Amino acid sequence: MATNAKRQTVEMYIEEKRVQGEEPVCAYVYDLEKLRDHANTIKESLPDFCKLYYAVKANPDQHLLEVLAPTVDGFEVASEGEIHKVNEVGQIPMIFGAPAKKDCEIEAAIRDGVGYLNVESFQDLNRMLYLAEQKQVKIPILIRVNLSSDVPDSHHMMSGVPSQFGVDEADIPDLIEKALQSDHVKIEGFHFHAMSNNLNAKAHVRFVETCIEKSRKWQEQFKLEISVVDIGGGIGINYWNPGEPFDWATFAEGIDHLGKIVGNLTLVLEIGRYMTAECGFYVTEVLDVKKNHDQYFSLVRGGSHHLRLPAAWKMSQPFRIHPVEEWRYPFERPGVLNAEVTIAGELCTPNDVLVRQNSVKQLRAGDIIIFEMAGAYAWTISHHDFLSHPQPEMVYLNK
Ligand SMILES: *Cc1c(COP(=O)(O)O)cnc(C)c1O
Repeated sequence: MATNAKRQTVEMYIEEKRVQGEEPVCAYVYDLEKLRDHANTIKESLPDFCKLYYAVKANPDQHLLEVLAPTVDGFEVASEGEIHKVNEVGQIPMIFGAPAKKDCEIEAAIRDGVGYLNVESFQDLNRMLYLAEQKQVKIPILIRVNLSSDVPDSHHMMSGVPSQFGVDEADIPDLIEKALQSDHVKIEGFHFHAMSNNLNAKAHVRFVETCIEKSRKWQEQFKLEISVVDIGGGIGINYWNPGEPFDWATFAEGIDHLGKIVGNLTLVLEIGRYMTAECGFYVTEVLDVKKNHDQYFSLVRGGSHHLRLPAAWKMSQPFRIHPVEEWRYPFERPGVLNAEVTIAGELCTPNDVLVRQNSVKQLRAGDIIIFEMAGAYAWTISHHDFLSHPQPEMVYLNK
């Protein structure tokens, strides 16, 4: 895209693109300035006893990592591939956590100087002790806890319920004792990542309070020299009602109050979705509009193989319509006025749905749909190869 002094917008990209070509518009567009501003706002709102990490799996795009690197305190990684992606961006502190680790990943984490490794089970601990002894190193670990009681109002629960993540809270004392018997690991703290897409700020503060209390209890009970309480991520995006977002100000204020119980510990936040969701847009052209069984359907270039999240969660992706007045064909242009429409993709499956029966004022073939909040768990969680359609263009605004 041509660079000019003005701040670039998604609409500017669409207009430039439309005059260029025959192919239907289909792109992921990232507004890097929006990301930079958002990351700075988050960072500045947190008290000094907090460290802000970005959870790379939400979106590992190198352009995004480069924007975030100067602002965040580190990156949370969950595979050897993510370690490499971070290394390509620079020397940045890392926390490595994964529920099923391979020897090569633990070795990569040791070799690349990852700051802390999560321990998710007794097997995980044994494997680290074994590898650390071979390499004559001491691995700094965070023990990932699966709490005994759940965290209300969250979408994907990973703690307080039976799940594959972490060490059962009841087994934590045994695991601590085992770790304390060896010179090859050093317990640096506890890790509590427990949920995904929590929209309730007050509930999240209560969760953090629980994390601090538990950590301090074990710190005292076992006379641990720990410094970290890692609360993971899980801050939500309100895809259903974007006008009522997670109340970050209330959350930050609540965290600030917890300064009185945090003692000498540092609170680590590993924010994924909330960091990058809003800087990403999936932009695509309407190919057809039709009526079947008294319902309207709009079909677009692309679909769930580019943006799987709404299909996975059976929800409607928030969107806005970019109207296009020109119509390049000699035949009638299909469209709807003031109707409820389902927006589907180009795949041959009824699951390829991005929006379910939302009302629109007007939607016509040739218009362009800008799907919003598509910067996290979007492109990378999608099944790109299904049906062998071309991939979307990747566009970065305001580099
Ligand atoms: C996925 C994940 C995160 C980020 O979660 P979000 O819900 O995207 O904020 C943080 N920590 C761990 C361990 C994770 O697995």
